[in-house]
Amino acid sequence: MTRDNFSDITKLRLALNVRFMCVYPPCQKATHGPSLSGDTLINIGNAAHITAASTNGPRYDASLTPEQRRAYENGAWLCATHATLVDRAPEDFPPSALQGWQRSAEARACNDVYGVSTAAPTTQPEISSALAKFIPLASKAIDFRMTTFFFAGFQVPKEPVNAMQRLIRECSGYHWHPGHPCHSGNHVTLSKQDYVISTIRQMIDLLSDKTRWVSDHTGYAVAYASESHMNAAFESLKKAYGEVDSTLHELRQYMRGQPNYSAY
Ligand SMILES: [Zn+2]
Repeated sequence: MTRDNFSDITKLRLALNVRFMCVYPPCQKATHGPSLSGDTLINIGNAAHITAASTNGPRYDASLTPEQRRAYENGAWLCATHATLVDRAPEDFPPSALQGWQRSAEARACNDVYGVSTAAPTTQPEISSALAKFIPLASKAIDFRMTTFFFAGFQVPKEPVNAMQRLIRECSGYHWHPGHPCHSGNHVTLSKQDYVISTIRQMIDLLSDKTRWVSDHTGYAVAYASESHMNAAFESLKKAYGEVDSTLHELRQYMRGQPNYSAY
């Protein structure tokens, strides 16, 4: 059975970007340090696959290419205990949770390096107020219909694509820290916000693939090559759309103070 393993560089980047700490929010323990004798470096961390490296593995996603399975974006840095936990109970730890933990830990590390305040809102009114600003921004980005019927003429209008770009610009990278008005600060809601942002980024990447989509001043349309080609372009965008839509639905529940505590 083939395994799409991470390269050593990818593993090192995953660890370095989160300061060699387990990204599982309740843990955050150091995974590297000198041995007692001081002459070796001890590592108890793992570059965990978010979706498995091989068939039948936890959270395996057959729709990914081997490159996507080996990519940095498919990894999360976890201590040995939590790398085991997420693989033994994969149904309790969906890909969105693991992705969110890694992104949040990277944001914490980035904030510290840039000297940005890490004081985060934690009360329900503060979380709700941040989400009340974030949800409309993200909703505009998916304000178009994805229907499986008659997709031959399927088009994504310009306005939602502009909204996608606005969301990425305003709610990611250096801007995206606990002082941001849309930043909910709570690790449960924040991991969902991070997931929405990274999935919308993926949608932009998909639409930018000129072998699959053509664009003009009105928007983006599926480029016609063959039926299977069009299906693939349509289905990958639809999958991302569905994930953003359902995560926004969960965030609306949190905003109203009706959180579903079953998942991170
Ligand atoms: Zn851990």
